[in-house]
Amino acid sequence: MANFEEKLTLQADSISEYLNAGKVDKRLQDIKVLMYHRILSENEYDNKHWTGVHVNHFEEHLKVLELFGFTPITFTDLRFFLTKDLELPRKPVIITFDDGYKDYYDLAHPLLMQYGMRAVVFAIGDRKIRENIWDDENIIERAPLMTDEELISIFDDGVEIGAHSYSHKPLTKITPAELEAEIFECKDSLEELLETDIHTFCYPYGLDNEEVQSVVKKSGFTFGCSVYNGPLQFGDSLFCIHRVTIKNGMGALGFALRILTPYEYLELGGSKVKKMIKNLINT
Ligand SMILES: [Zn+2]
Repeated sequence: MANFEEKLTLQADSISEYLNAGKVDKRLQDIKVLMYHRILSENEYDNKHWTGVHVNHFEEHLKVLELFGFTPITFTDLRFFLTKDLELPRKPVIITFDDGYKDYYDLAHPLLMQYGMRAVVFAIGDRKIRENIWDDENIIERAPLMTDEELISIFDDGVEIGAHSYSHKPLTKITPAELEAEIFECKDSLEELLETDIHTFCYPYGLDNEEVQSVVKKSGFTFGCSVYNGPLQFGDSLFCIHRVTIKNGMGALGFALRILTPYEYLELGGSKVKKMIKNLINT
């Protein structure tokens, strides 16, 4: 069992590396990491952008998780599972929210608490940024982010706060000095705010490569979340974690399909087949 000092610096590229090539628990390999952004009320809801999920749909998703016996865990929990200080639930799942929107606090968080579930919220390090200024306003409307007090409050409720860079820059397209600043300063800022270690990083826009991952690792993070990159089996690459995108308009059925079937394999398989057919036609 790792001692406290070792736990603070717990790092490996994959779960099997943690276990010294020992047999990986199937429950760990089957973990799906879900990716949400905004949760919208009836009044705000429209079909314009994929990142906005209706609050009623979100509640349906939680009901599906409950019905099929899933237990949402956090990456912090996962560290304790890896050091065998906590027993893994029968069907673990990880619910993540990117950007730290205020609608998480107003709509998603009360529902999660009601269902006895927890999530991981990826926040921006520059606490002066009050809304999603990085998005093109013509495509994605401005929306307020959680205040410091709101972040502290959900953290106190058991939500894990992860880092989503200092100012939401595309990390594969900036200089090495900017890259280090975006990652290190985000960690420092959130750790100072929450008075805790931040273990998990989430790459803005799902943009990562080996260089970005190595700086995240060097900064002391244990996990790095991507979107489409990364192996589909959980734990094969802990600095390039694939996530299942939860989109606008997805009700209970669409959600159940993603959580209960190897949907991500079908999704990837589908795009590969399309490419192969395209190449075949063009040759
Ligand atoms: Zn983001």
